[in-house]
Amino acid sequence: MSPRPHLEIVEALRQDLEAVRHPSDGGGDVWIVEEESASREVISGSPGQWTFLYEAGPLGIAEGGWIFLQAPPFWGWSTPQVTNSEGLGFTLVSTAAEGVDLEAQTVDQGLLGIQIQGRPLEPGEQVQIVYGAGDQGAIADRFAESESRFYIAVDGDGDGVRKLVQGRLDVKVVAGPAAQLILLQPSTAQPGESIRLTVAILDATGSAGVDVEGEIRLQAEGLPDLPPVVEMKAELRGVLHLEVLVESEGVFRVAAEGPDGLRAESNPLVVSSEVDRVLWGDLHGHSALSDGTGTVEDYFRYARDVAALDVAALTDHDHWGMEPLALNPQFWAEIRRQGDLFYRPGRFVTVLGYEWTSWIHGHRHVLYFDSEGEVLSSVDPAFESPEQLWAALKGKPALTLAHHSAGGPIPTNWQIPPDPELEPVTEIVSVHGSSEAMDSPGLIYSPLPGNFVRDVLDRGYRFGFVGSGDSHDGHPGLAHLTSASGGLAAFLTSDLTREGILEALRSRRVYATNGPRIVMATRLGGRPMGADVGLDEVGMGPLGAGSAELTVWIVAPGPLDRVDVIRSGQIHESVACDGERDCRFATTMEDLEAGEYLYVRAVQVDGGAAWSSPYYLR
Ligand SMILES: [Zn+2]
Ligand SMILES: [Zn+2]
Repeated sequence: MSPRPHLEIVEALRQDLEAVRHPSDGGGDVWIVEEESASREVISGSPGQWTFLYEAGPLGIAEGGWIFLQAPPFWGWSTPQVTNSEGLGFTLVSTAAEGVDLEAQTVDQGLLGIQIQGRPLEPGEQVQIVYGAGDQGAIADRFAESESRFYIAVDGDGDGVRKLVQGRLDVKVVAGPAAQLILLQPSTAQPGESIRLTVAILDATGSAGVDVEGEIRLQAEGLPDLPPVVEMKAELRGVLHLEVLVESEGVFRVAAEGPDGLRAESNPLVVSSEVDRVLWGDLHGHSALSDGTGTVEDYFRYARDVAALDVAALTDHDHWGMEPLALNPQFWAEIRRQGDLFYRPGRFVTVLGYEWTSWIHGHRHVLYFDSEGEVLSSVDPAFESPEQLWAALKGKPALTLAHHSAGGPIPTNWQIPPDPELEPVTEIVSVHGSSEAMDSPGLIYSPLPGNFVRDVLDRGYRFGFVGSGDSHDGHPGLAHLTSASGGLAAFLTSDLTREGILEALRSRRVYATNGPRIVMATRLGGRPMGADVGLDEVGMGPLGAGSAELTVWIVAPGPLDRVDVIRSGQIHESVACDGERDCRFATTMEDLEAGEYLYVRAVQVDGGAAWSSPYYLR
C-alpha cells in the first residue's frame, strides 16, 4: 500500500459502480439552444452565456427527483449558482409545465441541483437552464478546446442516485490573443540533412489557434538556408513550419521577432558526430476523456504540429472524470483509432496508453507499443495491485511507468518491487515536480522523504529516467508553459518507430527534462547512457582497476548553473557552468564497485533541468 493511500476514493468509486439505478435515472434528452445562447463559441477565460434545454423521457421525473447541471469541473468554468444575479455563473431555471416548482441550489463545485417539486415532470415536458444569465455571465475554461462538455444528470426517482443523460452539450472554447512566440527545432542533425523548424504564436496559456498575422524575422548564425523573413498568414492560425538545410557541424540557435514585438529563441540544434540522435516525446497526458482538455485528435495534433514532438502517448485515467474510460469502450476505441491515424513510422510515433490510477498503490501509466492492449482498471478487483497488472501484461510489448512517485496526489508504493521487464523506466518529473531526490530542483509538492527515486535506487531497484508532462491543459510537450515544472522524455535512438522507442526505453537509452530541450551526452568508460557497465569492462584500462572516465556534454537553451554527478546516493561532484549554455567536462570515477550507480543532472540558472539515466555497475 502507498504510504499515503486514499482508500476512501476507491470506496466511493466502487459504491458508485454498485449503486442501483432506477429506470428513470438518466432519462430524457438535452441540447443547446443555439439561437438563444449569446455565445456559440467563447474565448478561453472570458465570459459567455448558454441556454440548455432538458426534455423529460418516457418515465418523466418523480416529485422529489432531480436534474443536475455539471459545468466542466476541471479548468475554471464558473460554478452555476442561483442566488446572486450580479455574480459569475448566475443561472436561471424555468419550466412551462404548470404546477411544477423548480428548487435549484449549488451542491458542489461546478454542480447545480434542480429539484422537481409540486408534481412530477411528465414525459416531454421541458426545463430551460440559462447558464451565465447575469451581468457577468459565466467564465469559460482557461484553455482552448473544441468540445468543452457540459453534463446533465437525472435522478428520476429522487433516491439520491443519478445517471448522466445521453445528449451532448458541447461548447467551443477558442484561444485568446497572441501572447507568446515559440520556436522549436530538432536537437540533433547531420550535415546535409534538412530539419523542420516550428514557429508557433500561442495565447497566454499556451493554446494554439490564435488569430494573428504579420512578418516574422528569423536569424541564425551558421544556417545560411534560413529565410530572413516569413509571413504568418491569418489562415495559419499562428503555426507554420519551415524546412531548413543544415550544412555544417556546430551548435545552432534561431532567433525570431514577430508581430506585437513577440520575441523568441529556439532550443539548440547540435550537429556533431559526438552526440547521439535525440528524439523528444511526452508519454503521459490527459484529454477531456478523463480530467484533461480537448479531444484525442486535438491532443495528437498539438503534440506533432505545435510542440514538435517525435513521440506522444495519451494516457487518460482508467476511472476518473465524468465518464470513466474503463466503462466506455468507445473512448478507448477512439484513442486507438486516432493513435493509429497519426502514427507515421519515421516521422511521428503515437503510443496507445492509459493511466492505471490506483489510489492504493500509486499511479502508473500503461503503454502498449502494438496498439492492441486493453484498459485494465485499478478499480477492478482483478487488476487492483501492481502484481496483478504485471501478470496480465506479461509477454506483451507493454510498459508501466510509476509517476509522481515521491509525493503529489499519491506517492508510489515502492514496497512492491517493480517488474524488471515491464517497468524498466520511471517518470521522475512532470507538472507535479521532480521525484528524483530531496535535493532536486523543482521538487514535487507534498514530498515524502525516503520515497524518492534515488532512495529506491539505493535499495537496488534499476530504472532509466524519463520526464513527461502529465498535462491536463491539452498541451502535450509544452506543459511547462503554464506550470513551474513540465516533463519531457528524450530518446537516444534514430529508430523513430514504436519498436524503436520501446527498445530505447527498455535499454534505458533515455533521459528526462522538466521542459527545456536540453541536449545531454554522457559516456562512462566509453559506454552509452543507461548502460550496465561491467567492472571488467572498465577496470582493465590505463586508469587502473575500478576506474573509468565519465565524459559529459550539455547544451542547454538557457544559461547553466551546474552539472551534478550523482554516485550511489550522494552528489559526488558538482561542476560549475558559470552561466554558459554549453558545458563540457571529463572526470575520472575511481574505486567503482559492483552494485553502484551513477547519473548526471544538469541544472539551468532558471531551474530548468535534465537528468540522465543512470549507469549501473556490475
Ligand atoms: Zn497520476
Ligand atoms: Zn496523469
